Formats: sequence, C-alpha cells, structure tokens
Amino acid sequence: MSDLFAEQLQALRARSLHRKMREIGSAQGAIVDLVGKRLINFSSNDYLGLANDQRLRDAATAAIAEFGVGAGSSRLISGTQSPHLKLENALAKWKETQAALCFSSGYAAAVGTLPALAGKSDVLLLDKLCHASLIDGAKLSGAILRVFPHNHLGKLESHLEWAKREHPNSRIVIVTESVFSMDGDRVPLRELIELKKRFGALLLLDEAHAIGVIGPNGRGLAAEEGLNEDVDVQMGTLSKALGGSGGYICGSRSLIEWLINRARSFIYSTASPPPIAAAARAAVEFLASSEGEHRRLLLWKRIERMRESLPADAARPANAAGSAIFPWIVGDEQAAIDLSSGLQIEGFFVPAIRYPTVTKGSARLRITLTASHDEAQIKGLGDTLRRLSATK
Ligand SMILES: *Cc1c(COP(=O)(O)O)cnc(C)c1O
Repeated sequence: MSDLFAEQLQALRARSLHRKMREIGSAQGAIVDLVGKRLINFSSNDYLGLANDQRLRDAATAAIAEFGVGAGSSRLISGTQSPHLKLENALAKWKETQAALCFSSGYAAAVGTLPALAGKSDVLLLDKLCHASLIDGAKLSGAILRVFPHNHLGKLESHLEWAKREHPNSRIVIVTESVFSMDGDRVPLRELIELKKRFGALLLLDEAHAIGVIGPNGRGLAAEEGLNEDVDVQMGTLSKALGGSGGYICGSRSLIEWLINRARSFIYSTASPPPIAAAARAAVEFLASSEGEHRRLLLWKRIERMRESLPADAARPANAAGSAIFPWIVGDEQAAIDLSSGLQIEGFFVPAIRYPTVTKGSARLRITLTASHDEAQIKGLGDTLRRLSATK
C-alpha cells in the first residue's frame, strides 16, 4: 500500500514548499538559541521586545498565584475571571472605543467575528493580501465574497457598486488590514473610509501589525490618522507587539454584546489562561505609558536604521518602511530558502516565506525588526545580505 502522505510530502519537497519547525531553546528576543546556535533574530513580531519583559512576567506570575493556570471553561459557562474583564477595560480605554472583547488568538477573533457580522445574504469585500484568518472567517460566514486586488480602491469601488446594485438589502462589510503582514505596506485608510461611507458599508480593520508600532501610544493606524470613529470593527492581536497571546475586537458596546452572543470561537472555546490575560493587560498599560511611547519611538529609530542599512533597490519598494516589516523579495522558492540558510550560517535568523503564504514566485525573506535590536545587529544584517546577494 502506498503511503499517501509520504507521497504528498515528497511532492511538497520537490517544489521547495515543504515546511518544518525549528526548535528554539530560549525566550524570544534579539538573540535566540536555535538548536544550540546563537542567532540574531529578525523573524519575530515581538516589535517592542515585550515577549520576555519583566513587567509581563511579573503580571503573569501574580495572576498564577491568585487564579492558577486554567480558565476552566468558556466565559459564558463557568463565569468570567477578573483578569479578562480588566484586560478588556484596559483595551477599550487605550483604543478609545466603547468596549472590547478578547479571544484566545487573533485567528479565533477573525473566524469568530466575520460569521457574526455577515450571513449568507451579506457581502464581504476582502483585500487580496488579507491574512489567512480573515479569509477563513470570511469563508466560514457563508457570505457572498469578493476579493479586490491589493489596496486597489478603484476595484473596491466597482465591487461596492455591484453589491449595491445586485444585493441592495444586504449588509456590506469591507475587510482589510492596516499593515500587511508579508509586505509591510499600509492601507490607504482615509480614501477607503470615504468609499465605505459613500456606500454605507461597514469596515473591519485588522491592526495586527500596526498596534504597538503606529499611532499615538501604539494605538494603530486608525488612531494615527484620526479615523477611530470611522472603523466599525477594530481587530488586533495581543501576540505581536503586545508580547503575549490572544486576539481582540474593539468597537461599540452593541457590537461587543453581539459578538458575546454570536461569535462561536468565543462562545465554544475555553477562555485564555488568566496569567495570559494579566500579562496582556500589563502590556496595554505599558504601551499607554510614556515609557511605552518611548519604546515605540525607539523602534522607529531602528526602522530608520534598517532602511538605511538595506541595499537600496527599486524592485523592493517596501523599503519605504511604513512598518517594522521589511520584505526582501527573492522570487524563486528554493532561492529564498538558500538565502535564508546562507544568513543562518552567518548568524542571522530570517525566515523564507513561500507559497501559499505569498503568491507563487514571490518567495521572500521577511525581516522583522524590534526595539530590542541594536544598531550593530541591523548594520550586520544589511552588510551580510548585500554580500550574499552579490555573490550569487
Ligand atoms: C498574526 C495575525 C493574525 C492572527 O493573530 P494570532 O494572535 O497570531 O492568532 C491575524 N491577522 C493578521 C493580519 C496577523 O498578522
């Protein structure tokens, strides 16, 4: 009998699309211990270096002492523990929205929220580069789905016209991100919101890579542009710049109450561990503080350094640096793996990103920067990348 999975795995290997996990024997940080080798880490979304921060560790430890580790059940079943409510209050205050709701991950927030927003007679309009969690949530909703080319507002407008004409009584929800996770570029939010208002659509904005990085006190792109009021559903994650784990939705009181009643990933899943909620609250409070703002501004100094350090190249417009994500497009899948391996030999951990995370033939290195990197590390990466690219 042939081994079906072995054959399928072999096919993945043959196309340079096979993935495997690599063991890290240390906390996240600018330096990690990858199978016994110390590497400078340009792979994580821990933008502010909070994943191993003492404030978060202390908050989690204190919550363990008081609440233990497990949440016991869904928050609608066994009661909701104080750390989760305190986190939601802190989130709503920081984001300046009426209310907030936490999920066990950003992924869970997406797959729970989109089906609660749109049913099978409604219309969802998604940017082509939306994160997998948004695509999965959209599919799960059963709504009528249209994808517009990345940041292409002209195409979005024609989708909106089509939706108004063909589905005049449906709810229309535009779904996009403020910073795109594999390209690091930003959405033209102001223009998109003008469209949304003109057509009476709703907007879900996933700020996963913007919070902690962009806007006053890291409140995200909508806050930076003064457009908070115009984003109906603000989504984000506690697992990137906030250093921990979990997802959130911020918005009106009625939206949050609706999600509590309808978001299946919230209703039918055990609450995140209380220490995780407590650590996330400590992270939100840090961001809201002047010290947090200082750390965020330090990240922007590093981003500026990275922009100077990476070889200038018209084919790599992402060096326009609207975020802490620097894609280094290679194209060929195997070439991206080889470049990543070459960097690893030189002491840098920079992952190769391939199909289906990005389109076929647009494989890349995804360099992510944090406030914990120092200037020498950034310069070292730029120099090494220049050298390895030149010798090919
Ligand atoms: C990472 C990410 C998510 C998922 O968040 P997790 O907390 O990691 O599950 C959702 N949306 C975007 C854009 C992301 O980058």
